[in-house]
Amino acid sequence: MNQRLCLILFGPPGSGKGTQAALLREKLCLAHISTGDMLRERVASGDEVGRTVDGIMKSGALVPDDLVNRMVADRVELPDAAKGFILDGYPRTVPQASLLDGALKAKQVRTVVVHLKVDYNIVIARLSGRKQCAVCGTVYNLPPGTPPESEVCSKDGTRLIVRADDRPETVKERLKAYDIKTAPVLEFLEGAAYRCFGIESGTRTPLEIAAEIEDRLEKEFGAVACGE
Ligand code: AMP
Repeated sequence: MNQRLCLILFGPPGSGKGTQAALLREKLCLAHISTGDMLRERVASGDEVGRTVDGIMKSGALVPDDLVNRMVADRVELPDAAKGFILDGYPRTVPQASLLDGALKAKQVRTVVVHLKVDYNIVIARLSGRKQCAVCGTVYNLPPGTPPESEVCSKDGTRLIVRADDRPETVKERLKAYDIKTAPVLEFLEGAAYRCFGIESGTRTPLEIAAEIEDRLEKEFGAVACGE
């Protein structure tokens, strides 16, 4: 079966989309497409797009649909997405979902939506303990009370930083944007006849969740791991 596969990871900020994508990408030979990571790279590069979106991202609002749609359309054509791709943080509005729907159906991409469900109190607690290496981008979920001298990247020793948009006041804005603009995307995708699975993500380990996602994909499409 050489039809491409698309796994849409759907859920609020802090629901574990990036963690799941990192666990599943290599096992399934799928490209990890994180619009948040792509946008942060543009901000770090200081190019025109980066300068345009920097303030928007820091405020917790969503960046314009056209810009994100273009980025994703280009990204899915790269060779590492030949077998398929995991979408992390996209689509985040109904217009984005509508465009994606047309493209997936035109290209006959086998698609599953996984909704990572999590209580907002858990999101707020998780994001307040999330730190990132400013150099290599590795994300760490630090337990409360971690001493400052331990807040360094285990890969390159760089001091960890809080992402600007993980500050509590910005997290509230991101959750508001999720409720207003992103939550309706799930209904749209269900209405467009995609298989959508809800998985409780607040109370289970990342490995348990990844195993369940893999299980669901296998039930839906048969063997999905690399080389199968
Ligand atoms: P994330 O890392 O996915 O939480 O994304 C961080 C920020 O990037 C979001 O708060 C938005 O400002 C922006 N962003 C990421 N993905 C999208 C998207 N699909 N549509 C609009 N804005 C996005």
